[in-house]
Amino acid sequence: MSDCLFCKICEGNIPATITYRDGDVVAFEDIGPKAPFHELVIPVRHIASLNEAKPEDAALLGKLMIVASKLAVDAGFGASGFRVVMNAGPDAGQTVAHVHLHALAGRSLGWPPG
Ligand code: 5GP
Ligand code: ZN
Repeated sequence: MSDCLFCKICEGNIPATITYRDGDVVAFEDIGPKAPFHELVIPVRHIASLNEAKPEDAALLGKLMIVASKLAVDAGFGASGFRVVMNAGPDAGQTVAHVHLHALAGRSLGWPPG
């Protein structure tokens, strides 16, 4: 999608601190971190929101979780813990229309979220 911010990050047309990349998934540091560790894990293929995901996207979406976990564990948060969050739609606070999994760690995270 030529007008999608996260597609542009995937393509290298907007700078980001990339922490992981393979043919399916890219991860990068959130520009406005909400915790000491805050990375976004996204599919390279544009999917606007989780509510548009199809059954055939299940493996790709599962891979986001596996990559998020590896990044958090590799950063030292396996024992202390981390959270993965995907916002879908306006009431959940989704502001970028390209599926992204937040991985957060490094402080005690409140529950329930606001
Ligand atoms: P959402 O609110 O859609 O769940 O999350 C979008 C996230 O993208 C926010 O945490 C926001 O800080 C992050 N973000 C927005 N624009 C940029 C950007 O240009 N670069 C990076 N690295 N993160 C961004
Ligand atoms: Zn996109």
